[in-house]
Amino acid sequence: MQDYFILFSSSLKTKGVNRSLITDVQRNHIFTISNDLYDFLETCENRPVQDVLSEYDQESQEILTENMNFLKNNELAFFTNNPSKFPKIDKSINSPYSIDNCIIDYNETSDYSILNAINLISYTNCKHFQFRFFSRFSQEFITDILLKTEKNDHIETVEYIIHYDSYMSFKYLEMLPLMFPKIRNLVVYSSPDNKVIRRTSEVERSNMGNICMISDIIKDDSHCGVINPFYATFNRSLEKHNSAVDFNSCLNRKIGVDINGSIKNCPSTKEVYGNISNIKDLDSIVSSREFKSMGEIGKANIKVCKVCEFRDICSDCRAYTTDNERLGKPEKCNYDPFKNVWN
Ligand code: SF4
Ligand code: SF4
Repeated sequence: MQDYFILFSSSLKTKGVNRSLITDVQRNHIFTISNDLYDFLETCENRPVQDVLSEYDQESQEILTENMNFLKNNELAFFTNNPSKFPKIDKSINSPYSIDNCIIDYNETSDYSILNAINLISYTNCKHFQFRFFSRFSQEFITDILLKTEKNDHIETVEYIIHYDSYMSFKYLEMLPLMFPKIRNLVVYSSPDNKVIRRTSEVERSNMGNICMISDIIKDDSHCGVINPFYATFNRSLEKHNSAVDFNSCLNRKIGVDINGSIKNCPSTKEVYGNISNIKDLDSIVSSREFKSMGEIGKANIKVCKVCEFRDICSDCRAYTTDNERLGKPEKCNYDPFKNVWN
């Protein structure tokens, strides 16, 4: 038998109050494990496995051996004589930019220039845009935004939440990602049907061109902030896993513009840093300590979340928090890490 038993560098573990989690960031899977197994794996990082096992009684040794086989068979861990050859994954996050994603809200009462907002935000080198239109807008208006974002060299991906209109046939919606390849997600609410429109083979690539019609009505920004494993708010990527440790998994490097043109960390947070109609650039706002501080609230600082095994992969919400506390648990997360149940 080889001396050491270690996790693959793509298997990242998180210890919770009652149980732990291993996230396979390469294959996008999660596995719950006991905290005893977590502690055993920690000890095994620096000592030969037989040495560690010898400290347990016979029954525990059998359980741990069974668990090691489980981890090995699921390609989460392996035996080796040379653990130093398998360094841990680099968890540092390097980005030269203050902003990389934004949410722009707009409805029939909005009187700011959305094209000006796109320009100003894209000058910060923001790459990922989300537009949420809470009223019905004409085909010409929506097409204008699609064209503007498509032609903007700073922008890499765009998401839209738009009201259904009669011109939005399946055929029309299916063609949109072909005409506008920067579309990552398009959600059409108030639709006559709930339907996911299949991507054509030409846009069948990783995580792009997703179109979803839903019958739900989305009237305003209050729909946001729901956290549960079925709501696309669990992200098992390495990037998300790393950023959730020290930064806020929703607000880090995010900027928001609400329906009134107010500049915020996201359209639903309280702090206002100015109005998009009255500024020439965003540099002084996005580099200010006050603005950046919201993006620096990691899960380790948040009540309840700091002992939850999902804290490295779930999203966060600082706009809707328990008792409106700055460091309160997200109000729209129903998980209880002390009982391990979704209420
Ligand atoms: S902080 Fe909450 S409301 Fe704001 S974008 Fe994030 S999840 Fe949505
Ligand atoms: S309790 Fe906190 S860490 Fe756990 S799933 Fe909910 S939001 Fe995520």
